[in-house]
Amino acid sequence: MTIDKNKVDHWNRILSIGYELKVTPGRGDGVFSTKSFSIGDIVMVGVIEKTLTANHSHASQVSASLHVQHAGLISKVNHSCNPSCGISVNASGAHDFIAFRDIEQGEEITFDYAMRNYSIDYFPDPCLCGEVTCRVHVNGWKGLSIEKRDEYEGFVAPYLLQMSDKISLAT
Ligand SMILES: [Zn+2]
Repeated sequence: MTIDKNKVDHWNRILSIGYELKVTPGRGDGVFSTKSFSIGDIVMVGVIEKTLTANHSHASQVSASLHVQHAGLISKVNHSCNPSCGISVNASGAHDFIAFRDIEQGEEITFDYAMRNYSIDYFPDPCLCGEVTCRVHVNGWKGLSIEKRDEYEGFVAPYLLQMSDKISLAT
C-alpha cells in the first residue's frame, strides 16, 4: 500500500504541531515536544506511509506478521527504557503516540520499542537511553518482565497481548 505524496506532506504539516526534530546529545536525531502534554494526551498522530515486505531499522510492527513505515517524524522517535509515550492504535490502523506520563515542553518524546515490536532485530546493543532503569539489552516485548508488561498496560500495540496469550496457551 502506498499513499499520495501530497497527502503525506499535508499530514506532516499537521503532525508537526507539538513536536520538532532536534539533535540529541550523542544519540543522533530525536523528537522533542514544543508544548506540554498530560498523561493520556495524543502526542503524535500515526499515519501509515507504506507497508513493508520485511523488518528494517525504521519499521513499525503492527501485527504478528506485518511491518509498516509511518509517515512524518514517528520513525525518528527514539527508544527509552523509561519512555515518555506509549502506543495506541488509531482508526486507520496506524500507531498514535500517547503520553505515558506528563511531558514538559522541550522534553524528548520517547517510547519503549517493546511497546510495539515483539522482537527487535535492529537496535544498538547495549541500549544508549541512559536511564537508571535501562535494560541494556533491548529485545522487544518477548524479553519484557511481567512487571514491565503490567506497567505498560494500555500503552502497547494490542497484537502483542494476543501473541503473549498464544504463547502462554501453547506452553
Ligand atoms: Zn535503555
